[in-house]
Amino acid sequence: MDKREVIAEAREKGVKFIRLQFTDLLGVMKNVAITIDQLEKALDGELMFDGSSIYGFTRIEESDMYLRPDPSTFVVFPWRPREGGVARLMCDIYNPDGTPFDGCPRVILKRQLARAAELGYSMQVGPELEFFLFCVDDNNVPTLKTHDNAGYFDLSPVDLGEQARRDVVLTLEQMGFEIEASHHEVAPGQHEIDFKYSDALDTADKIVTFKFVVRTIAQRHGLHATFMPKPVYGINGSGMHTNQSLFKGNINAFYDENSPLQLSKEAYYYIGGLLKHARALAAITNPTVNSYKRLVPGYEAPVYLAWSGRNRSPLIRIPAKRGQSTRVELRNPDPSCNPYLSLAGCLAAGLDGIVNQIDPPPACDRNIYQMTSTELDELGIKSLPGSLPEAYAELSRDEVIRDALGEHIYEKLSEAKAKEWESFSLQVHQWEIDRYLTLF
Ligand code: GLU
Ligand code: MG
Ligand code: MG
Repeated sequence: MDKREVIAEAREKGVKFIRLQFTDLLGVMKNVAITIDQLEKALDGELMFDGSSIYGFTRIEESDMYLRPDPSTFVVFPWRPREGGVARLMCDIYNPDGTPFDGCPRVILKRQLARAAELGYSMQVGPELEFFLFCVDDNNVPTLKTHDNAGYFDLSPVDLGEQARRDVVLTLEQMGFEIEASHHEVAPGQHEIDFKYSDALDTADKIVTFKFVVRTIAQRHGLHATFMPKPVYGINGSGMHTNQSLFKGNINAFYDENSPLQLSKEAYYYIGGLLKHARALAAITNPTVNSYKRLVPGYEAPVYLAWSGRNRSPLIRIPAKRGQSTRVELRNPDPSCNPYLSLAGCLAAGLDGIVNQIDPPPACDRNIYQMTSTELDELGIKSLPGSLPEAYAELSRDEVIRDALGEHIYEKLSEAKAKEWESFSLQVHQWEIDRYLTLF
C-alpha cells in the first residue's frame, strides 16, 4: 500500500484515530494517536514527538524527533467499533535533520537487511511465540493462577484460556496474519501460536503487533497474557524459537539437494556464525534477568551451544522440511526480546559466518543433557551465558554484534541492563527468606 491507498482505505473503513507505533529500546510498543485529519501530514513524515520521555531515545537537546510511518503496515484494529474506528501504522524514527535515528530499533534492523541485500540475500523469519494466560484477581491484578490443567496438544473441554486463544487467532487473521498452528503448550496455562514466515522486517512488526493483540484480547476475556520468559519456577518457560533462512531472489539459499543433509554451504556457515556469536547475542535474544531462569536443563529450553539435524535439545535445530522451507531454528530467543534488535543480531552473526566462512562444529545428535561435563569438554561444547551480566560481558567483547546494534543502542542498553541487574541483586528475595531466616 502507498500513501494514497492508506488514506483511501482509512476513509472507506470509517477510521477516526490512527496510532503511530514504534518500539523503545526494550521492544516495548509505544504509540502516538492522531486523528484522520492529520494522516496525510503523518504519512509525509511531518509529525514530531518529544523523544526525551522515551527511554534510550534522545539526549535532551535533540528531543524533537520525527515519525515516518511505513504505509505497508497500515491495519485497522478489528476489535474497535466500526464507526470511529482505530488503525495503526508502524514508524521509523528520524532526526530533525532528516537522517534515520540510531536509537530506533526498526532502523537498526533495516540497516542489517540492507547489508544482507548488498551480499545478495534477503532474510525470511518465522517465529514460534509462547505465552501464559493467567487469571486476574478481583481488583484486576494479574495472579499466577491459571484457568486450566491441560497439557501439550490436550483436547480438554474448552476452557477460558482456549476460548481466549481462539479469539486471538481470529483477530490476528482479520489483521492479515496467516496462522499456521495454535495449541496448548506443555505447562498449565501456556499457549503457542505460530504464524507464517515472512521477510524479517514484516515479521518483526508482526511480533510486536502479536504481543499487543494477545494482551488486548486476553484482557477482554478477563485473563492476563504474559510473555515473561519464566513466570513460574519448576515448569517450562516461554520461548520464541526463531526460524530463519536467507533467500537469493526467490530461491532459498540454505537448500542444496546434493549435499548429505540437503543444506547448502551458506546454511552451514550461517550456523557457524550463529554459534560463534550466540553467547554475545544472548544479551539481545534473552535480555532480562528472568530470561536466564528459562535457559536451564530440564524444561525443553536450550543450554548448550550445539546444533543438530534431529535432536531438540541443542541451541540450533534444523527442522525436517527442505526445499523453499529449509531453515535454521534458533531456540534460545524468548518473547521478552526486542524482535528488531534480535533479528538484526541473528542476521549479523549469520552473515559473519558466510563472509568469513565459519564452519560449524560437527552436528551433535546425542542428548546433550545426558553427557557428563568431561564429555562436554572433550567435544568442546560450551553453554549459553548463565546470567544477564555474563551475556553483557560477552557482548562487550563482540565487535560483530556491537556493530549491528550501533554505538548508541549498545551504550544505552548496557546502561539500562546494568541498572536492572543491580536492582535485582540488591533485592532480598523470598528464596533467601525461606532459606536463611530460620536457619541462622
Ligand atoms: N517452552 C520451551 C522453551 O522454553 C519450548 C518448547 C517447545 O519445544 O516448543 O523453549
Ligand atoms: Mg513450543
Ligand atoms: Mg520450535
